[in-house]
Amino acid sequence: MVFDAIVVGLGAMGSATLYQLSRQTPNVLGLDQFNPPHTLGSTHGDSRITRQAIGEGSYFVPLALRSYAIWQELEEQTGQQLITKNGGLFVGRANSDVQMHNKPGFLSTTILAAEQYTIAHRLLDNRTLCNEFPQFRFQDDDIGYYEVNAGFLNPERCISAQLNQASQNGATVRSNERMLSFTETSNGILVHTNVGEYSTKKLILTTGPWVTDSLADTPYRNLLKVYRQVQYWFDVEENYHLFMPDRFPVFILSDRDMYGFPAIGNSGDGIKIAMETYQQTTSPESINRTVSEAETRSMYEQCVAPNFVGIGPKCVKSAVCMYTMTPNGDFLIDYHPAHKNVLIASACSGHGFKHSAAVGQILAELAIQERTDFDIKPFSLTHFNT
Ligand SMILES: Cc1cc2nc3c(=O)[nH]c(=O)nc-3n(C[C@H](O)[C@H](O)[C@H](O)COP(=O)(O)OP(=O)(O)OC[C@H]3O[C@@H](n4cnc5c(N)ncnc54)[C@H](O)[C@@H]3O)c2cc1C
Repeated sequence: MVFDAIVVGLGAMGSATLYQLSRQTPNVLGLDQFNPPHTLGSTHGDSRITRQAIGEGSYFVPLALRSYAIWQELEEQTGQQLITKNGGLFVGRANSDVQMHNKPGFLSTTILAAEQYTIAHRLLDNRTLCNEFPQFRFQDDDIGYYEVNAGFLNPERCISAQLNQASQNGATVRSNERMLSFTETSNGILVHTNVGEYSTKKLILTTGPWVTDSLADTPYRNLLKVYRQVQYWFDVEENYHLFMPDRFPVFILSDRDMYGFPAIGNSGDGIKIAMETYQQTTSPESINRTVSEAETRSMYEQCVAPNFVGIGPKCVKSAVCMYTMTPNGDFLIDYHPAHKNVLIASACSGHGFKHSAAVGQILAELAIQERTDFDIKPFSLTHFNT
């Protein structure tokens, strides 16, 4: 038997791809070395920010808009809530050039993208920011962009929903099966796993931080860098109601590399606040998955206490995750440089989840129709010097 396509890696990108493939043909297989959704890759921690005016570049906006439509379609099919549109507050200094996801000018690009695509938003001067959002301690020169339909996705639920829908459409899903290698054959690709071998016309590698393995024998072997990131949930000590989704938006403090979410769940569950860190590269095999008390204390003292009112030092939960970065913060969506029937679609440079539903559609179209109407030129390997 020859599959039309095999997807290796069923995290954000792979589950979306398998779902989109299964809408075209049931003759597809998805493999993951673990049992997704799991906590060992890049797609765990209860929440991911989603927004439509994309400060990393306006060419991401069509991906975000298409993803919004797919999440809604999936909610209708499954009866599950995947997205909460509680609004998004993005704050920084006017004309700041601080980088976010390796991209300068996050706030100004966001505002331009909102204007270009008519995305509902408000611009907030410093006084309005302080009046409307007393949960924050803003800097005197902060200004804000508030996006009405921004919010957060539940990443674990999105993965499960897409894998379940794919299975219902006839796709085969195999967990706890690891691809060891693949070889080219006369009519496609042979995938070798720890369990067996499978023939396919197209192979799609959505292996997240493990994707570097697939580029090891190419000139791009050193292109991608994996960074350890920590998500913290801190206790809300005062005015819990002010941190509920109806009063507290998702936020990005772009000049401080911080982002976070409202209180989701019960009052003891805290709110998730994180800071992007790029000090040290790592790998899925060598990453330190333990969050030390010293790290937590430093996060509270340097990031939480100076920026919020009412959040206490008690850390309710923490989770280690990985960013897989390209040098310029764009994605990588392209054919493997040495294998024309193999597609690669990681890295997502720390901002991929919100676009993952559309990336799945793109990969399915490339695999089956060998074309897509989305502009994926910015995500091509040829953009990067080796
Ligand atoms: C802390 C953190 C916060 C983030 N916040 C946001 C946010 O707010 N908004 C946003 O849009 N994005 C955000 N992102 C980015 C987003 O979550 C990621 O871009 C996205 O989840 C990456 O998904 P992926 O499918 O590429 O990787 P993964 O989810 O890691 O999936 C890769 C899968 O491949 C499997 N695999 C690997 N190798 C093999 C093999 N050989 N055989 C079989 N299976 C294999 C793995 O087991 C894994 O399941 C965040 C990321 C992190 C880490």
